Amino acid sequence: MMLSLTKKRMSVRVRFAPSPTGALHIGGLRTALYNYLFAKKNKGVFILRIEDTDQNRRVEQAEEYIIEALNWSGLQPDESPVTPGELGPYRQSERKNIYQKYIEKLIDKGQAYYAFDTAEELSVLRTEQEQQKKTFKYGAHNRMELQNALSLSGETTEELLKTVPYVVRLKVSAGKSVKVKDGVRGFIKVQSEEIDDKILMKADGMPTYHFANVVDDHLMEITHVIRGEEWLPSLALHQLIYDAFEWSAPEFMHLPLILKPQGKGKLSKRDGDKMGFPVFPLAWEGSKEFKERGFLPEALMNYLALLGWSPGTDEELFEMDSLIKIFDTEKIQKGGAKFNFEKARWINHKFLGFTDEKIIFERFPEFLECLPNTWSQKKRKDVYALLRDRLFLLEELKTQSELFLEDPIDYDIEVMNKIQKHQPKKIIEQFCKMIKEDVDLKKWKSKIMEWNEKEGLPFGAIMQSLRLAIVGNLSGPDIFSICEILGNEITLRRLENFFNHQNN
Ligand code: GLU
Repeated sequence: MMLSLTKKRMSVRVRFAPSPTGALHIGGLRTALYNYLFAKKNKGVFILRIEDTDQNRRVEQAEEYIIEALNWSGLQPDESPVTPGELGPYRQSERKNIYQKYIEKLIDKGQAYYAFDTAEELSVLRTEQEQQKKTFKYGAHNRMELQNALSLSGETTEELLKTVPYVVRLKVSAGKSVKVKDGVRGFIKVQSEEIDDKILMKADGMPTYHFANVVDDHLMEITHVIRGEEWLPSLALHQLIYDAFEWSAPEFMHLPLILKPQGKGKLSKRDGDKMGFPVFPLAWEGSKEFKERGFLPEALMNYLALLGWSPGTDEELFEMDSLIKIFDTEKIQKGGAKFNFEKARWINHKFLGFTDEKIIFERFPEFLECLPNTWSQKKRKDVYALLRDRLFLLEELKTQSELFLEDPIDYDIEVMNKIQKHQPKKIIEQFCKMIKEDVDLKKWKSKIMEWNEKEGLPFGAIMQSLRLAIVGNLSGPDIFSICEILGNEITLRRLENFFNHQNN
């Protein structure tokens, strides 16, 4: 996308502006990621602004959660409530006086007005319209019949401001065609009649989202607004607020929705609960999310980058540096992106494959606790190295490594029956002998083949007997590597246990 920056805004400035109403959903995290990538690609600034003007919806700990989630994801903001820049404060609840000043400016310019209609009065009007199958709109066609500073005389207004609760509304002129541009979808035209005289300032003196958002984007010198598609219907209204101030608006890009894996509609927390996948980056109220399931943040960022954007090639694995290089907002898709947990797992699997095990041990010690500390460091590393190609999530290490912790007590009956005719006991006895004679593990294969020249057993049956004795079933990585890690003593014990089990 071509960057057209005004003189004042010399560098790209983007913001992620979540409301602290709960945990950060991966849709929000993707918005943060795209903003981050765009900022870094253009050597710009990535800002975190907390939009907490709606105190009723504010949730304790949500802001901390958002900051922690961004840090874990590697999306550290350049300016934020905890690392403020010059254009703060970065929490809307601390900017009340700023909104007050700017609402007065709009009123003075005749672009906004006080309205005194009570909730009850408006509700009656709404019901009346509904009965006629219409929607009530507060605007140019009826504002002179309603209770506001435009319909009442100046003196009354002054009096009312002191005694009666009021809101401030945007004065939207009729008959205007509002043309806005969305970087993803192109130009959109909206007739001003379709837009209400929206409330800008609520009765409690707090700004609405629309007003605070525009004022802050302007004052924080935001050049590009990248946000979720759910805000696209508000774009024309935002444009009117910019116009009312005579400010130039930033460029806008609205990201496609993230859809359910199956069926229609937006991905919800409930889908995750139902189908057993996470939708939040970090634990929230005790839940296990991407982090706790054992996703590498880099892998999650790779997956999220592809959820609504594509590099235009078949390549699918990218570390953050290359994402920054190739990220191009022109390639953001219009249509919704289906969430695919299997794909996310696959990307994580690939990242586990090429991430040095030393790094895994350093960065994710919580997942390595399943490998006992009583083991030597070498054994812990060897077990991880052997299993990692089989891991999709780090949490799977626990079950995958169980075979090293306990000798099998049950043996897979089906396999047992299948190999019975090949005399597994005899095979195992031969392996035991080899251990006792201290035959080098690397020679096991040739030695057992030598022995088998007379016996004439199928090689598969020999390997299955060995695996059954050591692991209890046919799963797990290369059996010789398992024996090597277990060592002679444990391997022999397991073989003998199996032998005895066959005797009973
Ligand atoms: N506070 C809004 C949200 O949580 C921000 C929308 C925007 O980026 O303009 O979605």
